[in-house]
This record gives sequence, structure tokens and C-alpha cells, in this order.
Amino acid sequence: MKVLENEQLSRYTTIKIGGTAKKMYIPESEEELIEAAVKVGRQYIIGGGSNLLIADHEYESVLNLREFEKKIEHQSEGRYYVGASVRLQNLINTINKDGYGGMEYLYSVPGLIGGAIVMNAGNGREWNNCISDYIIRVKVLHGNEIKWIDKADCDFSHRNSIFKNNSEYIVLAAEFDFPKQDLEKSKNMIKERLELCKRLQDSSKPNFGSTFMIYDKTIIRFAKRLQLGNKKGVHFSRKTGNWLVNEGHGSYRQAIKLIKRIEKIHKLFGKKCDREVIIWD
Ligand SMILES: Cc1cc2nc3c(=O)[nH]c(=O)nc-3n(C[C@H](O)[C@H](O)[C@H](O)COP(=O)(O)OP(=O)(O)OC[C@H]3O[C@@H](n4cnc5c(N)ncnc54)[C@H](O)[C@@H]3O)c2cc1C
Repeated sequence: MKVLENEQLSRYTTIKIGGTAKKMYIPESEEELIEAAVKVGRQYIIGGGSNLLIADHEYESVLNLREFEKKIEHQSEGRYYVGASVRLQNLINTINKDGYGGMEYLYSVPGLIGGAIVMNAGNGREWNNCISDYIIRVKVLHGNEIKWIDKADCDFSHRNSIFKNNSEYIVLAAEFDFPKQDLEKSKNMIKERLELCKRLQDSSKPNFGSTFMIYDKTIIRFAKRLQLGNKKGVHFSRKTGNWLVNEGHGSYRQAIKLIKRIEKIHKLFGKKCDREVIIWD
């Protein structure tokens, strides 16, 4: 198994923030993953790193699942086995070419299947589509045992699953059932999604997408207007509400200070606020 030493974690997060991993384990098979999980534990797992805010300090060991399993296997009529390390775009392209679809709205998400299942990635609450819509069952490492968990037992809800913040499980793969879809329709849906993101999402600076999954829009707008945060580091995007961007000199301390401040303001006004980003402190 590949093991990197003193690896900069900022290289692995889309917000480009994070300390170092004294050892980074990169398993490429189930055997290697079990070996690594026993050695390392499961507390610090990184997939696409697109929903992570990692502290600036040193971590003893981190499990990197980018090279673990990239298999996409069409088993029968729209039913697919998909490894945890597959990029969402690769899966969407593959099923579209086969004449299936449904998840084109995830084309803009820079995550891996494993991370997307953990987070139950999807589009906004108002549309309420998410990756779990097409999941049949999820393959996990639980203890030292590999097993399948049926969708009904995965407790999927908005940006949530039994796997989130739960170091008992490592997601290895999943089985999906996709509906038939014409390739032209899929292409148009992807085009529309990318155009919408270009219009609404700030891709000019490193970020981790939405900071909060529940928040008060007026408070975030107010925070933006006050330009809370660090001008040369982490601050609210001027284009996309609820997104923090890293201007180049961003640090964990800046980001966490801003997140806590926003949470405090919510509390002060009796408003609900819940983080979407996963934080390693
Ligand atoms: C530009 C941008 C746009 C985004 N748009 C969206 C969007 O439209 N919708 C949306 O839902 N999200 C969006 N996100 C957030 C993010 O991309 C998703 O949450 C994504 O699914 C995270 O996947 P990942 O592989 O990057 O996970 P990571 O960030 O690597 O990990 C997320 C969490 O899952 C854990 N984890 C990762 N893989 C595994 C595994 N195999 N087994 C067990 N635990 C694991 C990690 O430890 C961490 O706790 C966006 C982010 C960015 C940067």
C-alpha cells in the first residue's frame, strides 16, 4: 500500500486549507483498506475533500480513499455496482452513455461516490433530489467485516446518513438502480446544470460549497455586507450566499472563527443553524 509521509492536507481539500498528515495511507484494495483501517483507525478519512475544513495542525494518520476502488459495473437493466473512489462526473457520463440517468444535477459536485453517499449529496432543499434516490444498498467496512446495508437502514435524509460523523463505517461501494434516459436529454440537463452553477456559484476561489445546511438568509446577507472574515484569507463569497472562499491566505482559524461567529448570531436571534461542512479540529 502507498504510504506518504508528512503530506500537506491542503493539497487534498478544495478550500486549500489543512495541516499535515504524518502518515497518509492510500489503500487500493479491500485487503489494504482493512490493513490500513486497523493500523490507522477510521477517524480521519478523505475522499474528494470537497466538504472538509481541516485544522492547521499535524494529524498522526489519515486514510485517503481516492485510489481505493474506481469500478463501475453495469449488472443489468440500469443496475450498477460503483466503487467509492469513482468521481460523480465519471458515473454520470457512464450511465448516460448506456441510456440511463437521473443524477445530472450532481455533475457540478467535485466529490467521490463514497463522500457523496456519506453526505447524501443533492441539490437544494426546495428540489430535494439526492444521491440516495437511486441507491439500493451500500457496501461498508464495519469493524473488520465487509457487509451490505440496505437503503432503508442507511437513515438517509437531507445531507445526512448513518455514515456521517460515524467512524464505525467506511463506505466501499454501492449498488444503484437508474431509470432509462435519452442521451440527448442527459446532455441538456448537464448543460443546464453547469450554466446555472456558472451563474450562481463562485468558482473564482477555493471553497467547500455550502457552509451551512440550515441557516437564516438575512443573517448571512448581513454578514456578507459587513464583510466579516479576512479580506486576504477566508471570507464570504460576494457571489454565492453561504459559501466561504479562500482568497489565498486562508487558514483554519479564520474559517472556524467566522463559522462560530455566524452560529453565535443565529443563537442570539433564536434562529436555527446547522453546519454542512465537516470539520476536523
Ligand atoms: C464547488 C462545490 C460545489 C458543491 N456542490 C454541492 C452540491 O450541489 N450538493 C451537495 O450536496 N454538495 C455539494 N458540495 C459539497 C461536497 O462536494 C459534497 O458533500 C460531496 O459529496 C463530498 O464528497 P467528497 O468525496 O469530496 O467527500 P469529503 O469531503 O472527502 O468527505 C466528506 C465526509 O465524508 C467522509 N468520507 C469520505 N469518503 C468516505 C468513505 N468512503 N467512507 C466513510 N467516510 C467517508 C469524510 O471523512 C468526511 O467526513 C460542493 C462542494 C464544492 C467545493
